[in-house]
Amino acid sequence: MIRLHGLTKRYGEVVAVDDVSLEMAAAQTTVLIGPSGCGKSTLLRLINGLIPADAGTVSVDGREITPAAPPRLRHRMGYVIQDGGLFPHLTGRGNVAILARHLDWSSERIRSRTSELAELVQLPVDRLEQYPNELSGGQRQRVSLMRALMLDPDVLLLDEPLGALDPMIRADLQSDLRDIFRSLDKTVVFVTHDLSEAAYVADEVVLLRNGRIEQSGSMDDLLHSPASEFARTFVQAQRSSLV
Ligand code: ADP
Repeated sequence: MIRLHGLTKRYGEVVAVDDVSLEMAAAQTTVLIGPSGCGKSTLLRLINGLIPADAGTVSVDGREITPAAPPRLRHRMGYVIQDGGLFPHLTGRGNVAILARHLDWSSERIRSRTSELAELVQLPVDRLEQYPNELSGGQRQRVSLMRALMLDPDVLLLDEPLGALDPMIRADLQSDLRDIFRSLDKTVVFVTHDLSEAAYVADEVVLLRNGRIEQSGSMDDLLHSPASEFARTFVQAQRSSLV
């Protein structure tokens, strides 16, 4: 379980994350949703210890996460960003293996884990010999997901992972991602600004506004019992995209 307590992050005058306390259940998919600039990405970066908080704490299974936390704790969290964040000078296979190499895994172990993951994310293995710029956007995100899953982390953090994809590819990957989350039993935190995407993958949903939690709970509650005028307006604005 991921527990946030009084978490605050400021950039100058801007309070990007403002006194957020929240529990995200193990083996569930929690979606962070809200308009651009409401603090979703900052919250995710705080959770994986990429940036320091100004106040408050993040803990994963009772262990506090900060940028100074031992790498083995941060390795228990996989992270996928919108454009994949792959190293352009490494092939897909090289990208997937990077942390395992750093941890001195044997070539055999890396090869077998890579094959297992290619099957899981449904990427033809020959694609792994390509460099990121030779792959389609959807394939890049599949490689990025493999890299995030390589060490079999307990937690998977995804920041608008489908945001840069065109609608057909997006729909495909969305459905594959949901199956993957369900089959793996991982604690997933998924950032999106898209309500229909949230409805598709979420067990729990957290609506943010100006760095604060506006509403958290089930998608059903958000859709049918919005807790505020802002929540109602946010839902209304995107309702037409829900089927
Ligand atoms: P979201 O992911 O919901 O679009 P962000 O977490 O990226 O929102 O940003 C929240 C607020 O913090 C915004 O006002 C943004 O401009 C600000 N912010 C985020 N990162 C930085 C940064 N590195 N430097 C300055 N301001 C930042």
